[in-house]
Amino acid sequence: MAKVHKLKTQLVHDGKNQHPNGAVVPPIFQNSLFTFDSWESIDDAFNDRANSFIYTRGNNPTVKLVEEKLATIAQGEKAKLFPSGMGAISAAILSFVKQGSHIVAVKNIYGPANNLILSYLKPKFGIEVTFVDGSSVADFENAIEDNTDLIYLESPSSVIFALQDIEAVTHLAKSRNIGTIIDNTWATPVYQKPLTMGVDLEMHSCSKYIGGHSDVVGGVLIGSEERINDIFRQEFEWIGAKPAPFEAWLLLRSLRTLDIRLKQHQSSALEIASFLEQHPKIKKVYYPGLDSFPQKKLAQKQMTGFTGLMSFSLITTDLEEVKSFFNGLKLFQIGVSWGGHESLIYAPAISYLKELSPEQFDGMGISVGDMRISVGLEDTDDLINDLELGLNKIR
Ligand SMILES: *Cc1c(COP(=O)(O)O)cnc(C)c1O
Repeated sequence: MAKVHKLKTQLVHDGKNQHPNGAVVPPIFQNSLFTFDSWESIDDAFNDRANSFIYTRGNNPTVKLVEEKLATIAQGEKAKLFPSGMGAISAAILSFVKQGSHIVAVKNIYGPANNLILSYLKPKFGIEVTFVDGSSVADFENAIEDNTDLIYLESPSSVIFALQDIEAVTHLAKSRNIGTIIDNTWATPVYQKPLTMGVDLEMHSCSKYIGGHSDVVGGVLIGSEERINDIFRQEFEWIGAKPAPFEAWLLLRSLRTLDIRLKQHQSSALEIASFLEQHPKIKKVYYPGLDSFPQKKLAQKQMTGFTGLMSFSLITTDLEEVKSFFNGLKLFQIGVSWGGHESLIYAPAISYLKELSPEQFDGMGISVGDMRISVGLEDTDDLINDLELGLNKIR
C-alpha cells in the first residue's frame, strides 16, 4: 500500500488485486511451515530469516499483512505482531535491558507491566527501577543513573491519564544514549505518532481499539527495521511469542473500521465526559479530551484525537452507595479491558483492595468511589441515561 494515500484509505484498502484469485479479503494462511523447491531456495530464505516465510513461529503471510498495515499507520519502518500486549511489552523491555540495568518508568503504567519490572526483573536479574510522576522532563532527568538503559513511557497513563511530553523526553534520552519505549494503547496509532517524536519503540495492546470487537487478544511493537529485526531474532523467536494467523486476520478486519470507530468513540466520550463533569454526584472527571484537563495544551500538541476510556470519582466513598451506582447500570457491562464496541465499567478498587493494605490503598491516590468507563458504540443518549439511572441511586 503506497504511503501517498491518506490514512483512512490505508486502513480500508489492501491494494488493488493484492490477494489470490482476486479475493477482496485475504485468505488465512493456516499453515505451520513453508516448503521450497531446492537446497538453494531454502538456503536463501535462511539468509534473510527476518523477512522470509520458513516456519509460522517466525513469519506468516496473514500476520505480515497486519504488521505492514500497522507500521504504515504509525509511520514506522517495521512492526512485529505478538499474541498479547504483555508479550510485546516483555519483549520490548528485555530488548533494552541486561543484568544490573536501571529503568526510569512512569508511575501509573499498566499494572502487569509494573509487576513485570518490579516483581520479576528486579528480584531475578537485579534490574533497578525508579518510578517518576513524569509530568515534567526534570522528573526523568533527576532519575537517570549511570546504568539507566531505558525510559518507559505510557502517555496517557493508566487510570488517571497523565501525559508526558514525548518529544522532550526522547530528546533527553537520546542525549544520554538511553532507549525509549512508549505504551501508546490509549491514543492508538491513529491519534498519536510517537515514532515521529523520536521514540525508539512504540507498543500497543491490539486487544483494545485496534481489535475493537472484544474478540482478539494481541500486541504489536513498531520501530526501525534494524530494531524490529533484532527483536525478531531474539526476544520474539527464542521466547516463542507467535501470534495466530486467525487472530491476525481478525485484526485486518478490525483495522478497516479503526478510524471511523474512533470518531464515534471520541464524540460520544466527549459528550459523556461533559455530562459527568457538570453532574452534582461527580467529584472529578479524568479525560484528556475535556477543556478542563490540566495538560490540555500538551494533549493538543501531541495527539490529534481522543478515545473513549475515562475515569471519574463519585462524590461518595461509602462502599454500599458506590455499589448501588455500579450495580445500578443496565447498559454499561461490568468487566476488565476496554476499547471494544460495548460500553464497560470497572472500579479500580476491586483489584487494588485485594492486593494492598488500607494504608497502601490510600497512598495510591485511588478511592473506592473511582470508576473507569470504556465508552462503546451504543447511542450516546442511551449511555447518558444509563449513567443518570445509576447516579440517581446516590443520595
Ligand atoms: C490491556 C493493556 C495492556 C496489555 O495488553 P494485553 O493485550 O491485555 O496483554 C498494556 N497496556 C495497556 C495500557 C493496556 O490497557
